[in-house]
Amino acid sequence: MKKRLDEVSPSMCLAKWLQVSMHLTNGLTQSCYHPPTHKIDLEELEKNPKALHNTSQKKTERKMMREGLRPKGCEYCWKIEDAPGEHMSDRHYRSGEPWARGAFEEVVGHPYDYDVNPRYVEVNFNQSCNLACAYCSPHLSTTWEKEIQKFGEYPTLIPHNSIEALEKQGLMPIKHKKDNPYLKAFWQYWPELYKDLKVFRMTGGEPLLDPNTYKVLDYIKDHPRDDLELAITSNMCAHDDLFDKFLSSMKDIVGKKKLKRFMLFPSVDTWGEQAAYIRYGMDWEKFWGNVNRYLDEVEDGLITFIVTMNLLSVPQLKRFMEGVVELQKRHNKHFHRVFFDVPFLRYPAWLSLQNLDDRYYHYLEETIEYMKAHPETNDNYLGFRDFWIAKMERVLSWTKEGVGNEEELHKRKVDFYRFFSEYDYRRNVNFLEVFPEFKDYWQECEELSLKHG
Ligand code: SF4
Ligand code: SF4
Repeated sequence: MKKRLDEVSPSMCLAKWLQVSMHLTNGLTQSCYHPPTHKIDLEELEKNPKALHNTSQKKTERKMMREGLRPKGCEYCWKIEDAPGEHMSDRHYRSGEPWARGAFEEVVGHPYDYDVNPRYVEVNFNQSCNLACAYCSPHLSTTWEKEIQKFGEYPTLIPHNSIEALEKQGLMPIKHKKDNPYLKAFWQYWPELYKDLKVFRMTGGEPLLDPNTYKVLDYIKDHPRDDLELAITSNMCAHDDLFDKFLSSMKDIVGKKKLKRFMLFPSVDTWGEQAAYIRYGMDWEKFWGNVNRYLDEVEDGLITFIVTMNLLSVPQLKRFMEGVVELQKRHNKHFHRVFFDVPFLRYPAWLSLQNLDDRYYHYLEETIEYMKAHPETNDNYLGFRDFWIAKMERVLSWTKEGVGNEEELHKRKVDFYRFFSEYDYRRNVNFLEVFPEFKDYWQECEELSLKHG
C-alpha cells in the first residue's frame, strides 16, 4: 500500500476519503479520528446529505493530499513519518485495511472533490446514557449533564466538566434534539451509504437506549450483507425491555448470519463494586448477567470487553481476568468468543495509570503472571493469547514510565482528591470503602490538596 500511495503522492491517505466519525448530536465530523473534529455546514447538508461526510474542509484536505501537501490536522501521522529512521504511520496502515484497499482505484480514478461513500463509519446518534462514568462528560451522557446542571462543574484546579466550556467548544448536543438536521440527513443518506459500507460502529451515549440503533438493526434484518462488519459499544445496563429487544434482533441477525461479523463491545474497567464505582450507575450483577445472557442466547455471538485502563482499574484487574476465564469455560465451545482490549486512559489526567508508583505495580504484575499461567490452548479455546499478554506488559511498562514531572504529578494528585471527594458527596458513595487499597494514596492527595489551599 505504501508503494501505491507514493505513486499518487507522498501525503496520500485513503482514510480521508473512506473513514468517518459522524457525531450527529452536535454536527461534528472527522476523517480519520486523529484530526480534530470540524462542523458540518447546514446549508451544504440541506442540498446534499452526502455532505455529512464530504464536507468542504475534507475536500480541501483531499486536494492537498492528491498534490502531496500535508493537511495540518493529520499531524499525528506527519510526526511519525518525520521521526529519524523509516517509519510507517497510520496513513499507510489505515489505507491498507481491507475496507480501504478495495476502494483505491475508485478514489484515485475520481476528481478530488467527488462525493465518496465512506467504507468505515462510526456514528453516535445521541448522548442519552443511564450512567455517569468518572472519566466521561456531559456532552456524552445525559446523566452527567443533569448532575452538572444541578451541582455545577467539579472544583478541580481547572474546573472540570463545565457545560459552558463544552458549549464554547461546540461539543454539547444541539438544542432542538427532536428536529436534528444531522440525523435527518443521515437517514436520507443511509440507503446509499449502506450499499458500500464495510464497517459500521455505533457508539454513544448508550446505543441501546436510542431508537435509531434499532432502526439500523431492523434495516439490516431486511437487507442482509455478507461483507459488512457491525459493532456496538454498550454499558450493558439498559432497562430489561430494551436489552430483550436488542437480544431478539441479534438472535435474528447473528443467528441467521445476516452479516459478515457482529462484535459487541461491553465497556468495563475492572471487576465488581470497584467497576461500579468508576462507572457510576452500573449494576454489576446486571452487567455480568447480561454478558452471560448475550453469550448464552446469541449463538456464535462474540464480545470484546473494552477495559479503559485507569489507575482505579488495577486492584481488581486479576479478578477480572479470572472472570474472563470463567466466561471462556462456559461459552467457548468451538472457537474463541470472548476477547478484550486494554486502551490506556489519558484524560482526565488525574486518573492516569502513570500517576501510580511502585507500591501499585504488583497488581499489574500479578495480573500478567495469572495470564501467563493460563496461556491459550487450541483444544478447548481457554486462556490468553500471546499478544493479549504482550499488550498487558505494554500497559505495565507505560505505567512505569510515570509522569516524569513532579509538579505535574502533584497537580494530578490534588485533582484526584478534589474530584473524588466531590464525587462521593454528590453521588453518596465512599471512595475509601470501595478502594481500601488506595488509603495511603488518598491521604497523600488530600495533604497536597490542603497545601494548595
Ligand atoms: S493521514 Fe493519518 S491522521 Fe490523516 S486521515 Fe490519514 S491516517 Fe488519519
Ligand atoms: S456508559 Fe459510556 S457514554 Fe455513558 S457515562 Fe459511561 S462512558 Fe459515558
